[in-house]
Amino acid sequence: MLFRELAEIFTGLEATSKRLELRQTLSEAFRRVPVPELPLILYLLQGQLRPEYEGVELGMADSLARKALALAVGRPEEDIAELVRSSGDLGDTAESLLRQRTGPPGQGTGELSVTGVYDALQAIASSTGEGSQEEKVRRLRELLDAGTPIEAKYLVRLVLGKLRLGVKEMTLLDALADAFRGETGFKEARAEAEAAFNVSSDLGEIAGRMAEHGVEGLRGITAQVGKPIRPMLAEREASLEEVLERMDGSCALEYKYDGLRLQAHVPSTRGTQAGTVRLFSRRLEDVSSQFPEILAALPDALGGGPAIVEGECVPIDPVTGELRPFQEISRRRGRKYELERMQEEVPVRLLLFDLLLSSEGPTLAQPYPERRARLERLLRPSERIGLATRELVHDLSSSERFFQQALADGCEGVMAKSLAEGSSYRAGTRGFWWIKYKREYTHELADTIDGVVVGAYRGRGRRAGRYGALLLAAYDPGTGRFPTLCKLGTGFDDATLEDLTRRLAGDERKGPDPSVVSTLEPDVWLEPRLVLEVRGAELTLSPIHRAGDGLVRPGYGFALRFPRFTGRLREDKGPEEATTVRELLRLYQTQVRRMEGPEAGTDPGRPAPRHPRERRGTGEAGAESP
Ligand code: ATP
Repeated sequence: MLFRELAEIFTGLEATSKRLELRQTLSEAFRRVPVPELPLILYLLQGQLRPEYEGVELGMADSLARKALALAVGRPEEDIAELVRSSGDLGDTAESLLRQRTGPPGQGTGELSVTGVYDALQAIASSTGEGSQEEKVRRLRELLDAGTPIEAKYLVRLVLGKLRLGVKEMTLLDALADAFRGETGFKEARAEAEAAFNVSSDLGEIAGRMAEHGVEGLRGITAQVGKPIRPMLAEREASLEEVLERMDGSCALEYKYDGLRLQAHVPSTRGTQAGTVRLFSRRLEDVSSQFPEILAALPDALGGGPAIVEGECVPIDPVTGELRPFQEISRRRGRKYELERMQEEVPVRLLLFDLLLSSEGPTLAQPYPERRARLERLLRPSERIGLATRELVHDLSSSERFFQQALADGCEGVMAKSLAEGSSYRAGTRGFWWIKYKREYTHELADTIDGVVVGAYRGRGRRAGRYGALLLAAYDPGTGRFPTLCKLGTGFDDATLEDLTRRLAGDERKGPDPSVVSTLEPDVWLEPRLVLEVRGAELTLSPIHRAGDGLVRPGYGFALRFPRFTGRLREDKGPEEATTVRELLRLYQTQVRRMEGPEAGTDPGRPAPRHPRERRGTGEAGAESP
């Protein structure tokens, strides 16, 4: 396929933010693409070269891309810098400069192939060390020499890591299901594609298999060491009584540790193909390098592998072995240097709560009691690796005792886990098979909320020169959009505001991102990327904020009253993992029930279901609860 054709598809996608139109454009395109190129196109559509978890960064420095463009159009770099100041986007500048280009014949004829471009981008991404800068510039210049103006725009955005077509994973799955479902109904094909994606996390692989064998092709996808599995997620209940009721009277309660969720992939240490142990975060980033002592301890603790296990990595007191506050572990995230010193200063322990693959193969389909029993048999606990504390409970008083014990031991609450036959590991799914129950905060909302920063207000007075407040949004998986929830100006000290301003500066944009839904006009619009944890007094119905618009009353969304930053940046969550509008609705219903007694919390004509359907994907589609 020619890159020119892909650039046309990009242009079509940029022209709309409607999910259905995006699906149609993509689905038509997918049917036209030769099968071997389809996986590459899936990655390129997301501005990537490989599945996200491999962490291959395109991100060429702006200055190098400017240089390549200057060489390609024969203009001084300063001119280009000046033009970018007014256009705000080097891609747009490249397009307009190439339109004015009067080069030798053969230039810009649009003969670049998708594979050729992909290979060049890969060479740019992988070139490191001495001479790599010249190499990157040379390669980009060659692409620009051969490219049309439109191609140049996207080439530049791609190498800068700023393609941002706004096509989400869920939309790509829609389109793949639509394109390759054959005789299968769309809904069924879509559900199968998503289930496969939850286990493989590689859209390229899904696309390749579907293009070749239709929905059938997905059946072979199973858990594999090295490919992160999307995490199973928990619902909430407002009291232990409700937890027990939901679990039909019996369940396992586990300590709910407050740390970093890690999924550990341990290849077999036997045989010749011993690979490396890898640790993935909740959002499937490879964070292996941050916890060398955990990497080293895992193979022995798990009988030499192969295994995939999940647990919470918590900071511990080296003397007493007790849990330390979560904030300490965040000091270890993102560290490249001083790892040794950090290992001593912030010692950690990985407390395992699930087993997803063992030497006998994937265990995802087994019920939780079976997985836990296998995990217990497999694990040899050590200083670095342990097992999550748990107890089977059948009544309220033993549940309460266990919960109090969890708090006393430094946990934030408990995780209830269903013992039912159907309690398999539901990758990427939020449901009542797991229920979190945290300490109650009187006069406050029952849980914290993770909001996406979509805009900012400039600080005044002492806060001048920094952002003074942020505009936060929730996530609506149904539409793929970010409707606003509150303005946040409390809970920051000056240093935090400075840090946030610095972190967010690269996300500033001219207007709102098309996926942001807001009636407010902040001073600065921001790319929806960073997720912050906030606590608030209550959820109210608001004609201004758009989160959950119409779920309770037409024309009203939810607003978070008296929001306060908890100090916790949720770097382990992407924007689509922020609190969803449906979770807000549940929190709202819980709050109303608390205020008005057991029967409230439902809007007339819109009863809150006792057993709401489980949601899948970014936690939001359907399967039944226990
Ligand atoms: P969610 O994961 O539900 O989107 P969140 O990341 O904000 O929300 P919490 O509300 O803190 O997380 O609750 C779920 C998280 O609790 C899990 O993702 C996991 O990291 C952590 N956790 C701690 N202990 C356990 C346990 N025993 N079993 C499962 N998860 C646990």
